[in-house]
Formats: sequence, C-alpha cells, structure tokens
Amino acid sequence: MRFQLRCKKCGKVIPDFATWFQQDQQCSCGSGYVEVEYLEPLTLPAAAPANDSYQDYYFDLLPLQRRADIVSCGEGLIPMERWDNLEAYARGKGVDCRVYVYRNDLNAGSGSFKDISSALAASVLKEQGVKEYCLASTGNAGVAFATYLAKAGIRFTEFAPNCIDPATVEAIRKVGQPVVISEGGYGAAKAEAAAYHKEKGVLISGGNTDPLRIESKRLLAMECLRQLGQLPTVYMQAVAGGTSPLALEKGIRDLQKADFQNSKFKIQNYPACSWSSRTSATPWCVPGSGPKPTASPRAGNSATRR
Ligand SMILES: [Zn+2]
Repeated sequence: MRFQLRCKKCGKVIPDFATWFQQDQQCSCGSGYVEVEYLEPLTLPAAAPANDSYQDYYFDLLPLQRRADIVSCGEGLIPMERWDNLEAYARGKGVDCRVYVYRNDLNAGSGSFKDISSALAASVLKEQGVKEYCLASTGNAGVAFATYLAKAGIRFTEFAPNCIDPATVEAIRKVGQPVVISEGGYGAAKAEAAAYHKEKGVLISGGNTDPLRIESKRLLAMECLRQLGQLPTVYMQAVAGGTSPLALEKGIRDLQKADFQNSKFKIQNYPACSWSSRTSATPWCVPGSGPKPTASPRAGNSATRR
C-alpha cells in the first residue's frame, strides 16, 4: 500500500480505506478526523496532463489504488485566471500584486467546487465495492455526489432541508438518485441522514475533515505550481465549512515533505459569515491592510452550508 491513514487525535494508524469504512469512519479513540499519509516520497508529475482527469494526472499523489476505477467527468485541471481588475483595485489601495483566481464553477461534473472531492470519493468508494452512500446537503454537494456516484454505479441518497432549491432536487433526481426532503431545516436534514446512516449501515460523507475531501482539494497547491510555477503568498476564499483552507495547508505540508519549500506562504482565513456582513465593496484583503470583518447574525445560515 502506498498510503495509510493516521488519527489526528491519538496518532493511531488505520491501514487503508477498507478498514476505515469497516470502522464506520472512526478511530478506536472515537475521533473521526484522520489524515492520509503517503509512505513513499511524493513526486510531482513532470509531463503535461494527458487527459482532463486530475485523478489520472495526480494519481501518485492521491490515495488511489487502481486507475481503472477512476470516476471522472473532467474536473480539477481548470485554468487559473488572472484578474487584472482586482489588481487595479489593489493598486488603488497601495498594494502591488498579481491576482489569480481558481474558478471551480468551471468543473465539468456539476459545475461546482464540490466536483473534485465527489470525484475522488466516487473512485475510492468504487475501489472498495461500496454500493450506497448518503449525505445531508443544501445543494452543491448533493448534486456533485449524486452525479459522480451515479457514474460509479453507487446509489446515493440526498437528505435536503425544506428550503432546498427545486432545481437542485431536479438535478439530483435527473441522474437517478433519490432525494429525501426534510420537513425542517439543514439541522433536521443532517439528523435524518445520520439516522439513516446508523439504521441502514450506509456510509455517510465525513464532513469537512473527510480525508477524501482534504486529499482532493489539497491539489490546489500542486495546481498553483503546475500553472504558475509558484505557490501563492496570500490565499483568499469565502469559507463556509472550511475544507479548502484545511486542504491547502495539507497540500503545502505534503509539498514540504517533498522538499518543496515556500516559507512565505500563509493563510488569512475570514469566515464566510464575516464577509456576508460587510457593507463596503472590498472584495479582498491583504493581511493587515483591510477593514476587520465583524460577526454576523447570519452566521448560522452561511456557516453550515455544504
Ligand atoms: Zn484516534
């Protein structure tokens, strides 16, 4: 095996995903937060991608065992865009910088940033012979998982809050996956998904620290190297659950183990709830130069969206 899982709480090693799933995605200490550890030195691919599958291109950097089981709609290798309008805005504020934007809405599966994590999850679940999966979601994750798991031949049940967009329900049902609409909000949908997971023994997506989400999204660090030749010195993202910054930090650590050094890298993490309360039009912030975000009464809505 090229990799193993290690509990972030107690350090215990879980040898593979088969064991992880058998243990109901929990370490014996009760923690559900594990990290993938690669047992061989990581090497960045030298050649250009041969196709549009990021899993094929970064296969040696992912917890995959068989290329034949890769589930892909063509996601994760999207072009980095340079936005000179934001650079001009920054210059007006006395900041000279280059601004690059990684637009995950260009992903080919369902057109959201959930595509890359859903794609890797579908591949690993397919490798493990998993037949059913479930998740509570307000939208993007539900459509993405429904799409990729349908492609993998895996039944996926979406548990949705009562406020879910009808178009989302239609998109999920269109690929042949069931949607259970709760009579309550997102909290109620999550409780129903957890009950379904427990009663039926169906695997459930492990939340923001799910190792499959982290491993896929951490490839943004590698994509910066491939497309820009360097890592960002400042990274900004509107955050709800927060998987992406966690993942990027993991990606940087993996690169450092591979002897890639970038001591200038830092993450300035503003929660999405803070941005939603801003009245100024400032679309971004360099540490120390912008207005401080404030807490928002809408935090409960924005912070729970998945
Ligand atoms: Zn543990």
